Amino acid sequence: MPLFGGIEAGGTKFVCVVGSGPTRILARERFPTTTPQETLARVVDFFRPYADDLQALGVGSFGPVDLHPDSPTHGFITTTPKPGWQHTNVKGFLEDALHVPVMFETDVNAAAWGEHRWGAAQDVDTFVYVTVGTGIGGGAVVNGRLVHGLVHPEMGHMRVPHDWEADPFQGTCPFHGDCLEGLAAGPALAARWGMRGELLPDDHPAWDLEARYLGLAVANLVCVLSPQRIILGGGVMRRTTLFPRIRRVVQDVLAGYVRDPALEEQIEAYIVPPALGDDAGVLGALALAMDAPSQD
Ligand code: ZN
Repeated sequence: MPLFGGIEAGGTKFVCVVGSGPTRILARERFPTTTPQETLARVVDFFRPYADDLQALGVGSFGPVDLHPDSPTHGFITTTPKPGWQHTNVKGFLEDALHVPVMFETDVNAAAWGEHRWGAAQDVDTFVYVTVGTGIGGGAVVNGRLVHGLVHPEMGHMRVPHDWEADPFQGTCPFHGDCLEGLAAGPALAARWGMRGELLPDDHPAWDLEARYLGLAVANLVCVLSPQRIILGGGVMRRTTLFPRIRRVVQDVLAGYVRDPALEEQIEAYIVPPALGDDAGVLGALALAMDAPSQD
């Protein structure tokens, strides 16, 4: 039976699966991200028993990463702040060790691809997947294709209006301070309010502010890409009471200018959680492997 592998290569954990679809997963493992040597060796150990039947691997990786097929560093994690992982040749290492083609993507593009194949974006061809967790990142599918462009989208580092009087917090991004990620990712919540987001009650002012920033970002995405759907995932979005608040902010900010029922009476089907939940990334990586050109 032809088998495929999916790898969610995250900054804190790796998840690996072998199979050929969400209902056909033969094996699965997760382990913490340590050094590149140790972590990639565990990946190889996981896949080696299946190597004879493996057709391709897909990787959705934390980044920044090099996605240019013609680049000498294609398939590398490049200038990441994560210690030890700068300039790590993930794709080359796995191809050499397992002798299978490796499809390499950003973590959020992989998650978007998973939602397109099996999840909340099967019926649209232009949409955005944004994860709000330890960081904020976004992947985009436009006209049925993942967007790479110059490097790859870095939606988490867009600027959103920051009212310093209402929110004097300076932001946590080491590059920009108060970019979207600096203001609204999990570490920003924790630093601003002095406790982890999970511990803040639903009626805490943190959540209106969080919805404000995320709603501003979503409105920007609507204006730039005209997506047919926006999927919001990641640990912070497990706070499901954020969804109605974000939808309201988006409608307020757009002020009726962008006209479509999706932004009006159907907005609950427009800004949605990932249908694959926490598995969007690893299943998306599997979907990428299944799309790899055949080797025969
Ligand atoms: Zn930033």
